[in-house]
Amino acid sequence: AVELRGVVKRYGEFVAVHEMDLEIEDGSFVTLLGPSGCGKTTTLRMVAGLEGATQGDIYIKGRRVNDVPIHKRNLGIVFQNYALFPHKTIFDNVAFGLKYRNVDKQTIRERVKKALELVRLPQTENRLPSQLSGGQQQRIALARAIVIEPDVLLLDEPLSALDANLRDEMRVELKRIQRELGVTSIFVTHDQEEALTMSDRIAVMSDGRVQQIGSATDVYERPINHFVADFIGETNFLDVTVSGIEAERATCVTAGGAEVVTEAVRGCRVGAKVSLSVRPEKIALRAGEDPEHRLRGEIERLIYLGTDTHYQVKLERGPDFLVRVQNAHASAAFEPGQPVTLEFDPGAARMLVD
Ligand code: ATP
Repeated sequence: AVELRGVVKRYGEFVAVHEMDLEIEDGSFVTLLGPSGCGKTTTLRMVAGLEGATQGDIYIKGRRVNDVPIHKRNLGIVFQNYALFPHKTIFDNVAFGLKYRNVDKQTIRERVKKALELVRLPQTENRLPSQLSGGQQQRIALARAIVIEPDVLLLDEPLSALDANLRDEMRVELKRIQRELGVTSIFVTHDQEEALTMSDRIAVMSDGRVQQIGSATDVYERPINHFVADFIGETNFLDVTVSGIEAERATCVTAGGAEVVTEAVRGCRVGAKVSLSVRPEKIALRAGEDPEHRLRGEIERLIYLGTDTHYQVKLERGPDFLVRVQNAHASAAFEPGQPVTLEFDPGAARMLVD
């Protein structure tokens, strides 16, 4: 539905987006996720036609749109600040795009009614935006965007102005509406939870580049580099040297002499110094100092959180590790000062390429 080929955006000397290639499948929900300033909004604005690309090509439904103005791209756009017309009624706000397209009055009435039903706000037609809550206004903004039956729906942090409860509710609503309509959507957010819960695919961005694109499980379970592992969820990093590779498995040695087995990534070789990412919930703690080159440490602190306990473990000649243990039993299992061995499956330690 949307394709970016070698798209670059420069502001003077500054490169906001570097040679970006991105393909978005028809009907899918794709999120651009990254920290402030990574270029996600600039990318969305180029697809919208609010910014021109300095270089490269943008296609919507197979048509090159670089020189097509915004109002001829057939897009629905929802911004963070709703951007409703304050002096127009809800009906006129939602009908705006249809009137602009000279759709006949009867069809406009029917389509506005349908759009308001879809966002679950029928009977608000005669009100002004100021007579609705923030969440309701955002639904109206969504109704206005979808009423024109856009080829692509562009959503620029649409939930970030809402309070936490409303945001959770709107996540579910937005996903429901997107699924019901089957409309291709590009969603911009810096909120990883929003991205993980809503997206078919997530493009994780930093410094104007897509670092990794994949499903929520791809980017969480199989981050390809340090940035993605660190930005999505919590993780522990461990510097190791690869000491042996057999089939898909790599044996690595830590500075403390402990051996850790991981899945080998393509191109990794014996002697290479690499970084591993291990998620805190994938580590099991065993009491006592197991010999035989196991990964060992000492409990420094623990935080009891009801459902689970977070342990900070000082590794032997290594960094601090965070380990999350679910509280299947009533009391926390380990005490500060206690020596422990850390265990995890080879698949849980992810070798990072940079
Ligand atoms: P945020 O979540 O804060 O909106 P973002 O990832 O959407 O961040 P962009 O708005 O795309 O980031 O901006 C990317 C970079 O381009 C930033 O460093 C920003 O300062 C720069 N930038 C954006 N617009 C302009 C402009 N009109 N002129 C110069 N630099 C710009």
